[in-house]
Amino acid sequence: MEEIVKLVYKRNMERKILSKDDIKRICNIIIKGKNYEEYVKNIRFANVNPKDEDTAGMYDGEDLFFYGKGLEKFSDVNFNQLDTTMDGTRIDFINFFILVTIFHELAHVRQSVMQDYRKNKEGQLYTICEKLHNVDDFYEDNYKYDLREVNAWALGFMNACEMYVNLPKEMVSPYDMSIYKSLAINKMMAGYSVSGKKEYVISPAEKIFESADKYNLENLNVNKEKFKSLINMGENFSLYRKLCIGLPISFDSFAYMNMLLVCNNSGDQFSFVKKMQHHK
Ligand SMILES: [Zn+2]
Repeated sequence: MEEIVKLVYKRNMERKILSKDDIKRICNIIIKGKNYEEYVKNIRFANVNPKDEDTAGMYDGEDLFFYGKGLEKFSDVNFNQLDTTMDGTRIDFINFFILVTIFHELAHVRQSVMQDYRKNKEGQLYTICEKLHNVDDFYEDNYKYDLREVNAWALGFMNACEMYVNLPKEMVSPYDMSIYKSLAINKMMAGYSVSGKKEYVISPAEKIFESADKYNLENLNVNKEKFKSLINMGENFSLYRKLCIGLPISFDSFAYMNMLLVCNNSGDQFSFVKKMQHHK
């Protein structure tokens, strides 16, 4: 990961947007480091995803794609200007969003790996979500709680933040870091809501379970008890891990996340990922 931090540091210093070659290089470092070689055959670039113009990246089970138009929308980057220097723009912000996209797509690769290990409980949850995804009218109302997306967004932002936390402080000020932090935490908490009753926080996992249960799990060929037990697998996980999968969290943890969000002590801006990792 140090290699990635060094590359991002270099590009930010040069005021250059991460190039296609840089994106490839970053992906390959992770693919090699995590042994994902079998899962990613090619890394491809195109201007636009014909199925959905807004997507910045995609993983189809074999190839990783990055799309100029989607990246442009997401990060304000003009894809034609990749490889060139731009002045007057926060290149470091643009590069942050490119990293989010890279880590988002690599999270989908990681999910595929886990789904193939039948005993992996996290992978089993994603397999259920994949089944649900194939039911069109169900998915339309519930895509927000697709745990594969919850996970990819959480890891996308958190991994990008971890890179930026490790950049020299003169490059990322506490003020900048507080922006990255709030983007990341807001994205992570987006699927969670507080119920008026009993100070209870409803998680994305519980929401998708309830909707699927109403829809009729048997028709979907999903075992209800199994699904339920998977949702409760995270009792001993760190808060970070629970949020990264969209699993239930306590009301206290919800409050803790809000505290992290508003905390303006400059040290907190840089240590929030670690804090979540050490909190239950
Ligand atoms: Zn995704």
